[in-house]
Amino acid sequence: MLNVLRRIVQEVNAAAELDQALDIIVRRIKQFLKVDVCSVYLATNNDQELVLMATDGLNPKAENKVRLRFSEGLVGLVAQRAEPVNIRNAEQHPRYKYFPETGEKRYQAFLGIPIVHKRMMLGVLVVQQHDERGFDEEHTAFLITLAAQLASTISYAGLSGDIGSLTPKTDHTDVSIMGVSGAPGVGIGIAVILNPHADLDSVPDRKPGKIKHQVRSLKRAVRKAQKEMLDIKVSMGKRLPAEERAIFDAFVMMMGSDTLVDDIVRKIKAGNWAPGALRQTIAEHVGLFEKMEDPYLRERADDIRAIGRRILKHLQKNEVHQGECPDHVVLIGDDISVAELAEIPSNNLTGVVSGRGSRSSHVAILAKALGVPAIMGAGYIPLLRLDGRKVIVDGYTGQLHIDPSKQVREEFCRLEAEERELAQGLSKFDGKPAVTRDGERIPVYVNSGLLADLSVVFQTQSDGIGLYRTEFPFMVRDRFPGEEEQCNIYRQILEEIAPRPVTLRTLDMGGDKVLPYFPIKEDNPFLGWRGIRVMLDHPEIFLTQLRAMLRASAGLNNMQILFPMINSLSEVDDALGLMHRAWYELLDEDVNTIVPQVGVMVEVPSAVYLAEKLARKVDFLSIGTNDLVQYMLAVDRNNPLVSNLYHTLHPSVIEALMATVEGAHRAKKPVSVCGEMATDPASVILLLGMGIDSLSVSVAGLTRVKWVIGSFSRARAKELLDEVRQMDDPVVIRDVLNDALVKEGLGGLVRAGKQ
Ligand code: PEP
Ligand code: MG
Repeated sequence: MLNVLRRIVQEVNAAAELDQALDIIVRRIKQFLKVDVCSVYLATNNDQELVLMATDGLNPKAENKVRLRFSEGLVGLVAQRAEPVNIRNAEQHPRYKYFPETGEKRYQAFLGIPIVHKRMMLGVLVVQQHDERGFDEEHTAFLITLAAQLASTISYAGLSGDIGSLTPKTDHTDVSIMGVSGAPGVGIGIAVILNPHADLDSVPDRKPGKIKHQVRSLKRAVRKAQKEMLDIKVSMGKRLPAEERAIFDAFVMMMGSDTLVDDIVRKIKAGNWAPGALRQTIAEHVGLFEKMEDPYLRERADDIRAIGRRILKHLQKNEVHQGECPDHVVLIGDDISVAELAEIPSNNLTGVVSGRGSRSSHVAILAKALGVPAIMGAGYIPLLRLDGRKVIVDGYTGQLHIDPSKQVREEFCRLEAEERELAQGLSKFDGKPAVTRDGERIPVYVNSGLLADLSVVFQTQSDGIGLYRTEFPFMVRDRFPGEEEQCNIYRQILEEIAPRPVTLRTLDMGGDKVLPYFPIKEDNPFLGWRGIRVMLDHPEIFLTQLRAMLRASAGLNNMQILFPMINSLSEVDDALGLMHRAWYELLDEDVNTIVPQVGVMVEVPSAVYLAEKLARKVDFLSIGTNDLVQYMLAVDRNNPLVSNLYHTLHPSVIEALMATVEGAHRAKKPVSVCGEMATDPASVILLLGMGIDSLSVSVAGLTRVKWVIGSFSRARAKELLDEVRQMDDPVVIRDVLNDALVKEGLGGLVRAGKQ
């Protein structure tokens, strides 16, 4: 059963059009369960109405014609109850409704399964039988499993236009994809699909440009893939017996076979670009093998897929994207990485949409720093149907609008104009210090490092850099950067910002920050070998970095060092020990540098409980709320399935922050917040109320945060903090804080904090 399920899901996901997908569903289910009828009804956009979209067994002419409300018929009953309905004699049931166009009167046994995605009723899957024998539990269990798996594919039904076309032509049905807000703002542009490398299924169809060029690039990719196979064969040497090695020869032959290459070339000539033609051809060949009776031959379908992926990998390397970039790019992909985002010229980048990730993923943080609206965690995205379409990214609500209607477009243009106005209004805070209503100066630093965004930092005249993530220089190389190389990078930053302070964080790899040359394989990377743990296990890497940092600060003395992911006091002792060792070494080498101020990040609950003791060992604490929230609430910061549970204003998070601030202050040490929470206007009020000493925020949010600080006194912020500490619900807490922002005339910022 598992195999059948897997095969149906794969086939459906590979279908380019909704019609095709639904057709596969009804045909395969009817075949496998040996029933008389299988149909799919989908709920229309305007809700509470179901339309028969595909059937195998009923009169096909009834497709798109039969419509019923949730309150009507047995199919409606399934949707209304949101649970399976299994009936032996349908005609006897009080909710039975006869639709003559379906010819369904003859079917007595009825089993309907709701299709639900993220609590939304998408439609109903129905099987029917002539006789009254009814359906058993096996049928129900199979269909529930299948419907649950297919729900996300079907949830984008509207994208094919099929559902839209059911409504009157004049009534443009707006279609959208929902994710979570990753970076605030509005972006209007053209969807550019980022192919997850070598993922054939998500390659879109495109016009081929110069056919000669496409064919040449295909043949080059085939040759490279063949050579790669032969190289692997050679590298296997004697480790594999000769007969096993022969498989590589077989691959090479299959790749270069006339049937495969000619088929692809034919499709290019028929009007598709090489990657699209490859996808189509591989799908056809896979289909042929999968239909074969012989299990050995059937399994060869997997080999064909592997060959396709390998050729695609080389084709993608050949593809030159430069020059094809529209002026306003909305970059869309299943799982966009920081490096991929950095590849698009920032002048062209208007928005980002990623199937995976959440608002505290590094891609979202980078988008925020660049001031580009982003949607994260959109789940399954029908990439094939989006390429080149007009889209609007609403970075406030996390909604992507596809081919928006005139009204929607106008609404967003208005929003864009409002944004511009707000930005102009905010420019009066540029370069000015942030001072509370009761006259207290709060240093507001910026976060940096994910990209070489130094000039932006410089222009915005912040109080300095509160968090420099050193990972990026490590991520963009193909080996660990050496001491000299690192020293140059750090020196440049320190010089540019001096005399203002710069907090350099030691390498925080692991979790979602992987170095291509230092792969870490773990089942739970966020609970694994991360941050300081890796550094303490590799003193040779850690010492190189510490030496580079200390050398870079010689004569400038504006550097602070920050240790990430600290979990225990002994880790701080060990890290400090290594830092002092590096300092003594340099002293021996006549490098004249001072011992810098050192801080510890509070990112895990254990550090919250140790805040006071940790603070006594170092010079300051810095709260990394991105991770702290994830570990407090046990909600993966990158998992879209639980992104609705990631609440920075959760009562337990507020208490943890309070405890950390109080702990640091008992030790008479300053404490700052450098997670994204510090850029969220509503949260800033609470942090002020708690007595936070400084903030480190996204570059793009700097002036907004200064505005909030300038609009509240510590005393007023404390009152609001006391009020929300009595509350249970993070959503209500946010509403209360948003109301306070509105009351102070900061309504324009409420949207920026929608999360
Ligand atoms: C944090 O966890 O809040 C933080 C600032 O670190 P990063 O986002 O780089 O994990
Ligand atoms: Mg962190």
